[in-house]
Amino acid sequence: MKIIDRKPIPPSNYKVGRNSIKIGTVVMHWIVGNLASADGAFHNPSRIASAHYGIEGNTIFQWVGEDLTAYHAGNFATNLKSIGIEHSGGELLADNTRRKPSQQTHETSAQLVADIAKRYRIPLDRNHVKKHNEVSDSPTQCCGSLDIDWIVARAKEINTPQGGDNDMTDDQRKALDSLQLAKTEFSLGNLEGTANAGAGALRDVKRLENDKVQLETTISKNEAKISALEQEVNKVALGLDKCQSDLKDAQANPNNMELGELIRLVVTKIFGKT
Ligand SMILES: [Zn+2]
Repeated sequence: MKIIDRKPIPPSNYKVGRNSIKIGTVVMHWIVGNLASADGAFHNPSRIASAHYGIEGNTIFQWVGEDLTAYHAGNFATNLKSIGIEHSGGELLADNTRRKPSQQTHETSAQLVADIAKRYRIPLDRNHVKKHNEVSDSPTQCCGSLDIDWIVARAKEINTPQGGDNDMTDDQRKALDSLQLAKTEFSLGNLEGTANAGAGALRDVKRLENDKVQLETTISKNEAKISALEQEVNKVALGLDKCQSDLKDAQANPNNMELGELIRLVVTKIFGKT
């Protein structure tokens, strides 16, 4: 996850510090525009608004440090305890609908939310990841059609490496994500995007193949070790057999052998030379 630093923005658009309030919430927005338009707005000193991060596709901009209070939630107490994330989308289209944030924007958002949740130990549920309109003092439609439930579920999945199909390695998951992205781009009819995502998926799969070769080498080395161990076990088993028959002989002729000698014999048989 690469974050592009777009700091600093004018000091009128955020507050230094957080009044010692602990970060415990993530607030989600949509820009009603693209990432460039948000970047312009937050660098405008008369805007008196900001967010910590903005996402478009796989690009993340950071405008405000997490240790500072951004003005985004429409509620000062929430601003103090939250990290605000903007998402590219929401412009009015020719057919009078609003542009839905892309699948890649959702995926990148989930990656960022997962990372934030891990660092601040924020539970990944809808009590802690909120829409702007769930915390704002003034009415807003933000964050529109951003699928925040999907993002929370996906972020949870990212931070839960065990269970289900999560027994995949990071590389395997990455390859699967790349293939999924290629499929999504194809279904959207975006041929250039499909080609790019396909090339990425191919690279990821190639890396998996390399991993597999390395793994196979390790397995064959371990198999040689196991076979050597098995030979050792066989030797010990043979020794024990011999030992048992010697003990039987000793029991049959108790007078022929002192106890100390018997013990020495057993120890020798099991452990080799004393
Ligand atoms: Zn908003």
